[in-house]
Amino acid sequence: MFSDISEQKAAEREIHELAFYDPLTGLPNRRLLLDRLKQEIAAAKRQHCYGALFFLDLDHFKTLNDSRGHQVGDELLTQVAQRLRAIIREEDTACRLGGDEFIVMVPGRYSELAQATHHAVMLAEKILHTINQPFNVQGSEHHFSTSIGVTLFPEAAEQPEAVIQQADTAMYRAKESGRNGISFYRPSMQETADRRLTLEKEIREALKQSQFVLHYQPQVDDSGRVVSAEALIRWQHPQRGMISPAEFIPVAEDTRLILPLGEWVIRETCRQIGAWDRENRAIGHVAVNVSSRQFRQPDFVQQIERILADAGLSADRLVIELTEGSVISNIEDTVRKMRDLQTLGVKTSIDDFGIGYSSLSYLKTLPISQLKIDQSFVKDLPEDQNDAVIVETIINMAKSLRLHVIAEGVETAEQVLFLREKGCLSYQGYHIGRPVPAAQFHS
Ligand code: C2E
Ligand code: MG
Ligand code: MG
Repeated sequence: MFSDISEQKAAEREIHELAFYDPLTGLPNRRLLLDRLKQEIAAAKRQHCYGALFFLDLDHFKTLNDSRGHQVGDELLTQVAQRLRAIIREEDTACRLGGDEFIVMVPGRYSELAQATHHAVMLAEKILHTINQPFNVQGSEHHFSTSIGVTLFPEAAEQPEAVIQQADTAMYRAKESGRNGISFYRPSMQETADRRLTLEKEIREALKQSQFVLHYQPQVDDSGRVVSAEALIRWQHPQRGMISPAEFIPVAEDTRLILPLGEWVIRETCRQIGAWDRENRAIGHVAVNVSSRQFRQPDFVQQIERILADAGLSADRLVIELTEGSVISNIEDTVRKMRDLQTLGVKTSIDDFGIGYSSLSYLKTLPISQLKIDQSFVKDLPEDQNDAVIVETIINMAKSLRLHVIAEGVETAEQVLFLREKGCLSYQGYHIGRPVPAAQFHS
């Protein structure tokens, strides 16, 4: 006996769709979310890590729906769903609860609360940003914002409904504090998240008000002559005083503020090189630190070219410092850009060399000019035998690859002696000079 069951299968599928998916947007519905959330809470507990739940409510959606009609509203919701789907990872779930409420669930990934919070802020900002882009509905443009409540699980609650409730509560707080914002459920999390969000706002402000300054640290050759310098950014905060780049560069990276900030660093460095030239205090070159995101900009090399041209400097006056991590994160792009920089005449240096990656094969393939031995290996020289071997190895490797090598974090005369004996002839560190404002820099 044969019977055609395809019709039955199709019907089953349809029932399944209706039961678990939102017919308008095609996103999972509340029921499916609850199901997945339950599993993810259990998994996060087992693996001792934190997942995150984001509760979104579009701002002023009702007004649009009432004034422009349901069709426009429906179209908008569909587009919101598409945008959410586009920015989340495959293992994440975006769901429509109903009305203009959406939820994004991210399974447990981070075992540190601070790290989980940090990444939740990042994703929340990404969601906010994507919703803030104009929508085109039936030929006209609409601007939208959303309020987002965030909670981590399984921190304060373990039942799926309770976790959603927390995110909902947080979302209301976001609405209360002016919409188009993010709010975290737990006070402890709110604190970390607040600090970050405040820092972000302050960096934006600081850029406008020129609170950033560059300090310059000398780099000497083996005769002790200052031949070059490294530009290091400082933030002169009106209340908190001098803030270290270690504190704000990571936030600037995450929020893309590193792009205007990094461009400013390069411009200001070039301006300073020119100013020293005119004062007859010319320096060979100045190295600037370029972070990964900055280097990944498609027009990074053109940007450098433009800045050099604007400042009327030749390309050999500027050196770009990149970390190993940013170099290997996309090797083809790196090779292309480094070649372009080389053609332009700008040299590149690998900063903090040695702490990054064990695979050194990439070194051969890259047009690098310099290796900068990380200060952690220099610190305990010459006593620490391991460090001594590592440093010697790096120096020999640089030699055989015909790369210039410089040591950073040089604090004692003994370290200089050791390095010189092994064949490293350039040094940077407190022993030679601390980073100082341009006016106090003596070459
Ligand atoms: P880095 O590029 O490896 O810079 C060297 C850091 O070591 C600097 O810290 C410098 O002040 C410090 N240092 C120099 N000599 C010595 C020494 O003898 N002993 C010790 N203990 N430390 C020494 P700083 O200025 O706090 O900068 C920290 C990091 O922040 C830099 O590490 C760099 O990665 C980043 N950074 C600084 N300026 C910029 C910038 O303009 N753009 C970007 N993207 N990152 C920057
Ligand atoms: Mg550096
Ligand atoms: Mg370094």
